Amino acid sequence: MIAPLEDVHGRSVSYMRISVTDRCNLRCTYCAGEGMEFIPHPDILRYEEILELIGMSRNLGVEKIRFTGGEPFVRKGFADFMVAAAGRFPEMDLCVTTNATLIGKHVEGLARAGVRRVNISLDTMDREKYERITGRDEYLTVRENIDRCLDAGMTVKVNAVAMRGVNDDEMPGFIDFARDRDLDFRFIEFMPVGLETGWDDSRVWSAKDILAEARKYADLTPVIGEGKRRRGPARMYDIGGGKGRIGLISPYTNHFCATCNRLRITSDGLLRTCLFSDKVFRLRPALRHPRLGTETVERIIRAAGRNKPIGHELLEHMAADEHGVCRTRMASIGG
Ligand code: SAM
Repeated sequence: MIAPLEDVHGRSVSYMRISVTDRCNLRCTYCAGEGMEFIPHPDILRYEEILELIGMSRNLGVEKIRFTGGEPFVRKGFADFMVAAAGRFPEMDLCVTTNATLIGKHVEGLARAGVRRVNISLDTMDREKYERITGRDEYLTVRENIDRCLDAGMTVKVNAVAMRGVNDDEMPGFIDFARDRDLDFRFIEFMPVGLETGWDDSRVWSAKDILAEARKYADLTPVIGEGKRRRGPARMYDIGGGKGRIGLISPYTNHFCATCNRLRITSDGLLRTCLFSDKVFRLRPALRHPRLGTETVERIIRAAGRNKPIGHELLEHMAADEHGVCRTRMASIGG
């Protein structure tokens, strides 16, 4: 029996985020913007390689894999790949983070295959604003696909990046949306990642201020404990008289490093131990090496997991500009 992955600070590493592509069909102002360069196709991990990595991660005690991107459904064959992965690893919790523009026709098949959880990004309740933020007129499709996922019995978390001057005037609409549906609506603080995002401290709508604003429109009760449904890094609140919940994720004002249980693999096979650390471990050369194989890759994952940094290393080590904005794009890390 292989010992489960635990870091030097006693945190067990049970969650892996795998980016399947750095390409996206949206151009969200806070994430990517227009005019990006993408990783060349031959450098992107093949689906068989990702399946190998999932198997190794399972052997090391990882229980949950989240596929992300870029936009996962932009990659050819992604839905079929996810169905295949769910069939091969039925004991693992496989989920996906998506902008939900392309998931529509795949929802029932994914649900049948055992994909029970989906995180969907939606930053506004206004169609025109959606187009201003994302550069595409896909609001109605996303709204429809959220309901489709719920109808298929999936657990849905909707994530909105909270930005001053962009969506801080929309709380009544956000609350109504979450009140009417059995889902988690989570606000994520705007993070200083990516140089073209226009990030600036004054644009951060902090979790504390979001909560104060939300309390003006709803009777909120903290959800205590993890319960049956995993809450991840969010502080969740039940909405009095409503079906859904709202939540706060505060990576900027209140890091959740002490309980962080995740590793990230980028689409070109770099293992990152922290969203805010530039330190990477290269898995692809070992994966593709004719003789090294599984043992070597597992050894790298184990060494990386053991040395997960205890706190965000943004200010200490990261390639950042003079305002502390990380130079790496979020779309290439996978959020
Ligand atoms: N395309 C998928 C999607 O839209 O969810 C997955 C990739 S996206 C990079 C993953 C998550 O990162 C999304 O929820 C997105 O809103 C979030 N994100 C991107 N840039 C961010 C930023 N600067 N601050 C906070 N969250 C950000």
